[in-house]
Amino acid sequence: MTRYDYDLFVIGGGSGGVRAGRVAAGLGKRVAVAEEYRFGGTCVIRGCVPKKLFVYASQFPEHFADAAGYGWSVPEASFDWPTLIAAKDREIGRLSGLYEQGVEKAGGTAFHSRATLVDAHTVRIEAENRTVTADQILIATGGRPNPHAALPGHEHCIFSNEVFDLPELPKSIVIAGGGYIAVEFANIFHGLGVETTLVYRGKEILGRFDMDLRRMLHADMEKKGIRILCHTIFEDIQKNDDGRLAAIVTGGEVLVADQVMLAIGRIPNTEELGLEAAGVKMGPKGDIVVDGLSRTNVPNIWAIGDVTDRVQLTPVAIHEAMCFVETAFKGNPVEPDLECIATAVFSQPEIGTIGLSEDEASKRFGELEIYRAEFRPMRNILAGRDEKMLTKLVVDAETRLVLGAHILGPDAGEMAQLLGIALKSGLTKDDFDRTMAVHPTAAEELVTMYKPSYLVRDGERVGPA
Ligand code: NDP
Repeated sequence: MTRYDYDLFVIGGGSGGVRAGRVAAGLGKRVAVAEEYRFGGTCVIRGCVPKKLFVYASQFPEHFADAAGYGWSVPEASFDWPTLIAAKDREIGRLSGLYEQGVEKAGGTAFHSRATLVDAHTVRIEAENRTVTADQILIATGGRPNPHAALPGHEHCIFSNEVFDLPELPKSIVIAGGGYIAVEFANIFHGLGVETTLVYRGKEILGRFDMDLRRMLHADMEKKGIRILCHTIFEDIQKNDDGRLAAIVTGGEVLVADQVMLAIGRIPNTEELGLEAAGVKMGPKGDIVVDGLSRTNVPNIWAIGDVTDRVQLTPVAIHEAMCFVETAFKGNPVEPDLECIATAVFSQPEIGTIGLSEDEASKRFGELEIYRAEFRPMRNILAGRDEKMLTKLVVDAETRLVLGAHILGPDAGEMAQLLGIALKSGLTKDDFDRTMAVHPTAAEELVTMYKPSYLVRDGERVGPA
């Protein structure tokens, strides 16, 4: 008999926590996972999954419009928000059930309760008002939207939590932020017929991405009818007598809309978790500080996913979970590899990207070759849609290593996944060149851009090669 009730207690039943609990239980460890809200966490319940369903819903008007070019006549379409919400709820209910069952089928115990630390080996299961002990504890409590408490009137705003369950579709919305969530939801709402304004404090939306993608997406979104205000911030949000909201932005313009959404980053869920009682160190943003192996300063307490504020992406949390299990239970210490992560923004058109942007690469490498193709995807031609696609490779001229691959256009996220393997494997432009194209596809451009469009030498563009 060991001294503890469990070999592993996981606090947080999201993507990272459930994966760690399930895999550790599969190794024969005695595991419990506690979740205070719904198993599945942000990604499944109020993040990636319902967001992607909303993206699909919002794309239909363009599909209906494009159909005419192919000979179809589509009767006037109408949209019912409650039907979408109910369908989405059924799907996330199904997935949440699978997450919970995954823990239990592997032999673990799922608690529907908030769990807090009493000390380094003791956890309080709040719903049952009792404590249990565990040899190892994993904190995977994720994060939540930054409430922007300093903004007067922030209490009138909605966040990515509420947006999935609005009782009715607003007629107009103003969204603050220029990151993943703000950009994705601006496109979703616009696609669903909502008058949409995006307000971003910086020079150009999507700060961490390649400038070509940012500019082209911005132009495409404006062309569709989304109003984008850069260099602009909210100063006050007021509620009018008619229930609508007035967002006062820099310069004094008043943007009146049914809803105002804030999407200005996420903060770690570490309050009242008992971290102080257990002696776990936190960083300046309330994040849990971990070493390369996801271990906190308390040797038997670990943390993974958004609560550590490393890279806030579901697949990263899952990867960290797998590395944690290797390290803590298989005697095989593995550090999560957070370099060169492929990612997608489900904007319309979509972004798929991996590796260094041209600007980042030009700071680190003396000479770059930039391969760039801008073209109308075949599907758009008969549709009469003039939206263009962009494929771009950033290559180190000296080693021919492909440093970055950036795509804007249909299925860009799917392409980024496969490019991820190529860049992660350190393939060169010559490897791309000798790869046969799949024809006719848009992705074939990635292996048929034989001549550089231009060079970048010591940070300066030096014209066509
Ligand atoms: P992001 O970090 O992507 O973007 C935050 C945005 O808010 C930035 O444009 C930032 O501006 C702006 N901002 C920050 N603080 C303020 C402020 N005080 N006033 C005005 N603007 C501000 O966060 P999101 O909330 O969009 O998303 C959270 C995380 O969720 C992301 O980091 C991402 O990792 C993940 N996610 C991933 C998705 C995917 O993989 N497709 C989809 C959705 C979310 P600036 O650029 O100037 O800093």
